[in-house]
Amino acid sequence: AHEGILRRQSARESSARTYARALPIVPVRARGLTIEGADGRRYLDCLSGAGTLALGHNHPVVLQAIRQVLDSGAPLTVLDLATPVKDAFVTELFRTLPPGLADRARVQFCGPAGTDAVEAALKLVRAATGRSGLLAFTGAYHGMTAGALAVSGGAREVRAVRLPYPQDYRCPFGVGGPRGAELAARWTESLLDDPKSGVPLPAGMILEPVQGEGGVLPAPDDWLRRMRRITADRGVPLIADEVQTGVGRTGAFWAVDHSGITPDVMVLSKAIGGSLPLAVLVYRDDLDVWEPGAHAGTFRGNQLAMAAGTATLAYVREHGLAERAGRLGARMLARLRSDIGGSACVGEVRGRGLMIGVEMVEPGAEEVARGQGDALGPEAGPGGGDFAAHGPYPPPPGPQAARVPRPAAPELAEAVRRECLRRGLIVELGGRHGAVVRLLPPLTISDEQATAVLDRLTDAVATVAR
Ligand code: PMP
Repeated sequence: AHEGILRRQSARESSARTYARALPIVPVRARGLTIEGADGRRYLDCLSGAGTLALGHNHPVVLQAIRQVLDSGAPLTVLDLATPVKDAFVTELFRTLPPGLADRARVQFCGPAGTDAVEAALKLVRAATGRSGLLAFTGAYHGMTAGALAVSGGAREVRAVRLPYPQDYRCPFGVGGPRGAELAARWTESLLDDPKSGVPLPAGMILEPVQGEGGVLPAPDDWLRRMRRITADRGVPLIADEVQTGVGRTGAFWAVDHSGITPDVMVLSKAIGGSLPLAVLVYRDDLDVWEPGAHAGTFRGNQLAMAAGTATLAYVREHGLAERAGRLGARMLARLRSDIGGSACVGEVRGRGLMIGVEMVEPGAEEVARGQGDALGPEAGPGGGDFAAHGPYPPPPGPQAARVPRPAAPELAEAVRRECLRRGLIVELGGRHGAVVRLLPPLTISDEQATAVLDRLTDAVATVAR
């Protein structure tokens, strides 16, 4: 059955498929961290439905919540009618929101995917401000619909102004750390304030508190607070895309909680549906300018997803899974850094909570110091010329010792993924060059399972490095 299914699907299904290309797995059963194929092989699943499975596969509380709805005879789809199931979901969701937002939040159910909620967010801030421009960040990923693509990093068609996202290893200013984040923030400020920049006051700024698809890049808390101040001072709504970072993944219930900022709009999906499709927008009530019907969609009333989501949110909150993700993630990072951080083909090990990335680089190539001004070459951010085209901010004065990272090695990352698979471990790749090996395990992963995951991953990296 296994081979036949694989063969038929690769013949019939679009080549736009992603994971399927690299994973010769026909999953038929799954529980927690484990997924089992039709051929009987078992894998540790650190892809978790691209970060959807906060509680892992088929968690009993999620299954029970779904069964309860099925057994109750409730309608399964209700457009946007009020129902007890939805009431329970919204009540639980509001319990978790950042305090500044919880008291005055509106929730809007969107079409089932994260990208639908991103579209709604972009439309909302445009409607609320009467302005059209958007600020987004290099390396960002917000989805695959046209509007979401326009604010994503790799998009060729750039309709949003792209700003530098702070990062240590491939800092666009070649300095990293707090100084790199400071330069990135000043770039943003000057772009908004310099009349010569040609950037009119935008309708909104959208950011991920930790870039996931962009290669697991945690934004420093200070920088996030700075973005909050910059946008608040200028009356620009700040949209936090917590599609991937939400529901405890980074060690706080929402990743913005680390910095204490209150975004004006939050985009939520993935784990909030407890493995079923669900996407919502949460925003400050004074932004609620929609006319009835201004943003509709058929699949906004999936009761199974809401029930699974309520069970998931409550379980994460009641069992302190966010805090645990923070502690366990820190230990996993520390072990990875000590085991493979020094490897000639590992550029950086980074992450926050249970969002972990290992960037693979060309071994051997020397890291050379050069003037930081040089670092603002075509390498500055995805789309390359973004800053050159938009940035009035002058390159910082050099020369200063700057770390020049070794070239990204996507083929090594691919080799690590293959080696992991051979050892029964499913990982994901990401990053601008596809060179970052990513782990997104369920928050319910046990200490022993985490050790098994790291054993296999470090072994895979060692094999590739040999
Ligand atoms: N935003 C972020 C931060 C994401 O990680 C993703 C999905 N990886 C999306 C939006 C899009 O969500 P979806 O794939 O459900 O459309």
